[in-house]
Amino acid sequence: MSNTYQRIVLASRPDGEPTPQNFRLESVAVPEPAEGQVLVRNHYLSLDPYMRGRMNDGKNYAQPQPLDEVMIGGTVGEVVASRHPNYKAGDQVVGMGGWQQYQLADGNQPGVLRKVDTSRIPLSAYLGAVGMPGVTAWYGLVKLIAPKAGETVVVSAASGAVGGAVGQLAKARGCRAIGIAGGPEKCAFVVDELGFDACIDYKAHRDLGSLSAALKAAAPDGVDGYFENVGGMVLDAVMLQMNAFGRMAFCGMISGYNGEPIPMANPQLILTSRLKVEGFIVSEHMEVWPQALGELGTLVASGKLKYRETVAPRIEDAPEAFIGLLKGRNFGKQLVKLV
Ligand code: NDP
Repeated sequence: MSNTYQRIVLASRPDGEPTPQNFRLESVAVPEPAEGQVLVRNHYLSLDPYMRGRMNDGKNYAQPQPLDEVMIGGTVGEVVASRHPNYKAGDQVVGMGGWQQYQLADGNQPGVLRKVDTSRIPLSAYLGAVGMPGVTAWYGLVKLIAPKAGETVVVSAASGAVGGAVGQLAKARGCRAIGIAGGPEKCAFVVDELGFDACIDYKAHRDLGSLSAALKAAAPDGVDGYFENVGGMVLDAVMLQMNAFGRMAFCGMISGYNGEPIPMANPQLILTSRLKVEGFIVSEHMEVWPQALGELGTLVASGKLKYRETVAPRIEDAPEAFIGLLKGRNFGKQLVKLV
């Protein structure tokens, strides 16, 4: 085992789009676990859109990421040394290890590490379909949209970690699932691999009328549930097709994460179509995680829930991969391989 490891800290706060200069790669000594601590070698780091909000100093639903500290992030890895009775070397764990190759965790802190079984589910999936993004999909769909068989559900960022699961969970409930994604390759994957009924390439539609017409053609009976990940023209187009008493789960608005304005063209539709709109943060609904992870794990292990990963090969690639995620350069769950 090397005596040092690499980690990435937040060096400065971005103004608009993040740049590689906002991050700093450091080399530090591998620590020894003290009594009650567990040393984990992180195998994969999850890159997620929420990290962009944490890089700001302003008001958000979560605390800002402190400068000069390791970037926050979900990780999966293996225990290499333990001075806690619940963990032993070789255990595979998921946690919030951050952008670094090793983490020292307090084994007594509830929820800081969760042991996972990789006999039927790949380790990396615990950062995607059987992890936080999967539970996000499950919560927004099952608890907020609450679709009935035969209804039509639309999801944006449909080829991604959250969106891909939303459509497949909707199909499993007997719904018609329609994705919206950027580019023909992503749309082909959403239909051919993930099994959605249709997918609309929003980049092929330059104005609201055109995108809305494409959605109408794909959803001739209107839209009953919308899982929102993007905002802007995509949201406007879906709202025009919402049926009376439709439900919209507001999960993300990635088109505005770098500070771009995201006006809503027709808010009056919330009233005239009697829409239910609810935003949510998945970490505030820990009570559903066991049930959601149970269903997601069963579906992934049996091959019924499919997903795709984009893996950056080294820790030093994490900043560029993260910047790319905010521009749609990822295709499926964005990970960084740390080992
Ligand atoms: P994805 O794997 O879907 O990756 C992000 C995708 O967003 C990109 O691939 C791209 O897809 C799309 N995108 C990026 N920039 C834009 C843009 N300017 N306009 C339109 N689309 C864009 O990420 P996740 O599945 O991890 O996250 C999806 C959403 O869910 C995000 O908004 C995220 O913030 C949210 N989220 C919310 C949680 C909550 O608790 N509320 C928890 C987890 C995630 P494409 O090429 O198709 O445009």
